[in-house]
Amino acid sequence: MTAYDALLSHARETMALAQVMGRLHWDQETMMPRGAAAQRAEEIGALESVLHARRTDPRVSDWLAAAEAPDAAGAAQLRLIRREHARACKVPADLASAIARATSIAQGVWAEARRDEDVAAFLPHLQEVLRLRREEAAALGGDPYDALLDDYEPGATGADIAALFDRMRPRLKALRDRVLDAPAPEPLAGWYAKDAQLSLARDLAERFGYDFNRGRLDLAVHPFSSGGGADVRITTRVDPADPFNCLYSTIHEAGHATYEQSIDPAFALTPLGQGVSMGVHESQSRLYENQLGRSAAFCGWLFEAMEAAFGTVGAADARAFYAAVNRVGAGPIRTEADELHYNLHIMLRFDLERALIAGDLAPRDLEAAWNDRFAADFGVPVARPSDGVLQDVHWSVGLFGYFPTYALGNVYAGCLHAALGAALPDLDADLARGDPSAATGWLRAQVQRHGGLHEPRALIEQASGAAVSEAPLMEYLEAKFGALYWL
Ligand code: ZN
Repeated sequence: MTAYDALLSHARETMALAQVMGRLHWDQETMMPRGAAAQRAEEIGALESVLHARRTDPRVSDWLAAAEAPDAAGAAQLRLIRREHARACKVPADLASAIARATSIAQGVWAEARRDEDVAAFLPHLQEVLRLRREEAAALGGDPYDALLDDYEPGATGADIAALFDRMRPRLKALRDRVLDAPAPEPLAGWYAKDAQLSLARDLAERFGYDFNRGRLDLAVHPFSSGGGADVRITTRVDPADPFNCLYSTIHEAGHATYEQSIDPAFALTPLGQGVSMGVHESQSRLYENQLGRSAAFCGWLFEAMEAAFGTVGAADARAFYAAVNRVGAGPIRTEADELHYNLHIMLRFDLERALIAGDLAPRDLEAAWNDRFAADFGVPVARPSDGVLQDVHWSVGLFGYFPTYALGNVYAGCLHAALGAALPDLDADLARGDPSAATGWLRAQVQRHGGLHEPRALIEQASGAAVSEAPLMEYLEAKFGALYWL
């Protein structure tokens, strides 16, 4: 066996075990009995030790030194293996295991604290998770925030993202202010049966290319997609008063999942066989959800589909339905935010977590800092912790550096959407028939099938034919909401 083959064989087994780890997390969010939380933390900690030992195996260095890539894809495999190995070797095994255990426990405590509106109960766990992640960042070296961010968006830096957000913020706020000054459209008013919502959600996932033969849809507190290759699962939640919560979170997660399902099967269970970064991942889910799913054309079809599913939708006509789908409001919840406020939610979290990691903000002061910033950016107070600092799972599971990838995904989606519109002149006619397959096919060919073959930014620039910029997203938002609100 050549050094290259030995390396790939080792990586393949590690990837398989990582998939098992992912399924333990999926189970924890969907099926696991509540009393199993402590034992699950042990199970995850034990598997994390195994994974860490494999990722830091000294043989990997020897193989890397001797390996010769057979082709361009092989060279990309070596690049990713080298990157992960170098990263893993910098983090001591007991620290990696401590992080896995602490975050597993903190996640359960967070869920109960959120339910009980009890920030004090979560605080010691937040302090511990933050302490461990700062220790990890110090071990990785360089700017602490960049060290963590690099795991989710290779090549990005906190300073670049701060500059991007500084360019977007005033334009977003100006547009948002003009929209909120205009007469607000009516929201939907009605009661939408849970089973009918889930049935329509399944139909939507399939229309957007999700393969149920290699996936499944379950309920969870916080919708997510997990897994890769032949087993990619999605979750949603159902609110009988708000069908868009279920339907659009399903389209969103189907975007993530079809990305994973569409990667070249030759890359399965190798470093190339997964989405290349969280920002690129989010660009797919956002494009499916917003630029396609919330377009006037697709909303015309969805209006008819919902009339058929629920009897009556609670909107006068397709135009009123489209306005209700895209209704702008300064609500407190990120996952329910409209396309304008969403990025402002992310900017708030990005600044706060950067200050936490830098040591400029103490966890005990986080709630007050959140509430002050929210009032300043959104013009309304935070009513309760579950509407504020306790709303997201991310920090409880140690995901510092993850939030900005959501807004980066919106920026990438803007770039891809501009290219998509130019490539598919019949896009609106397709969407009006409830058929996004030409669009999802284009994304599959341009972005998804490549897996980890290209660096994130290079992939977006190659697919969109232009340098990454916030301009296409801002122009799309200004055109869409300008027309919708008669500005
Ligand atoms: Zn997402």
